[in-house]
Amino acid sequence: MLGFLEKISSYSKEAFDAAKYLVEGLSVTFDHMRRRPVTVQYPYEKLIPSERYRGRIHYEFDKCIACEVCVRVCPINLPVVDWVMNKETKKKELRNYSIDFGACIFCGNCVEYCPTNCLSMTEEYELASFDRHSLNYDNVALGRLPTSVTSDPSVRPLRELAYLPEGIMDPHELPANQKRAGNLPSQIIKELQENKLKDESNNNSKNIVQNKLNSNN
Ligand code: SF4
Ligand code: SF4
Repeated sequence: MLGFLEKISSYSKEAFDAAKYLVEGLSVTFDHMRRRPVTVQYPYEKLIPSERYRGRIHYEFDKCIACEVCVRVCPINLPVVDWVMNKETKKKELRNYSIDFGACIFCGNCVEYCPTNCLSMTEEYELASFDRHSLNYDNVALGRLPTSVTSDPSVRPLRELAYLPEGIMDPHELPANQKRAGNLPSQIIKELQENKLKDESNNNSKNIVQNKLNSNN
């Protein structure tokens, strides 16, 4: 009798443990059902990079004055500025400019310090290549306009998961014209300019009233 009871007890314990492990496993499954999907069907779908994304550098040859500030501020002295001194005009003549994206760490220092703003960071991130030497971009390659995820007709652009409006769980559900969460930098600048104009007009009207009061006195 005692042996039978022990068997029943052991069986019940095992059944309880099995049920416990089953619930534990399913709790992970159910937890994932509440999470945002992160799968992007690349290259048919691509996430829209954020506004301040530091991608491939764009360079404008005509604006460059060959000052080499970009070389001095670069942590690895990467940009190569090829220039000669024109003895007649006593000015530098730019011949070539290159950046090797195989070594660049995309820190943005060169863009930040360039005095003529001829460098800018783009949203282009697809730089993969079979030959690392082809990552050394000359001024022609650097001057090429970047590809944009939003203007490429063969790609479905998806809003970055961090930028999805409240309540939207899947970027695939979001219509392309849906207002994004937060404002774009251009919208913020416009808002600041409008506020500044409003403040100026308020100050002007206050000054006019004050002047009238002063003249009456
Ligand atoms: S800092 Fe700007 S202007 Fe000066 S060499 Fe570099 S790219 Fe040209
Ligand atoms: S992004 Fe940084 S590492 Fe790349 S070239 Fe400019 S300064 Fe150098």
